[in-house]
Amino acid sequence: MPGELSLECSECGRTVPAWLLLTCPMCARSVCVKCAHFNYGRYFCGPGCAVYFFYGDSEGEEPEEP
Ligand SMILES: [Zn+2]
Ligand SMILES: [Zn+2]
Repeated sequence: MPGELSLECSECGRTVPAWLLLTCPMCARSVCVKCAHFNYGRYFCGPGCAVYFFYGDSEGEEPEEP
């Protein structure tokens, strides 16, 4: 297979070139740029992961307030 590697978006199921696919830093799912959710300066597979990234995954830990 010459040229570009195609991968499947785990959100919409479309096959897109690898360079159009983004890996979610939270769940490591690969989604295409159309499905990716840009927030907090990076791409996530969806708003859920963006929120999860922002608030952290420290369960039971109270967030520090000034
Ligand atoms: Zn997609
Ligand atoms: Zn994700």
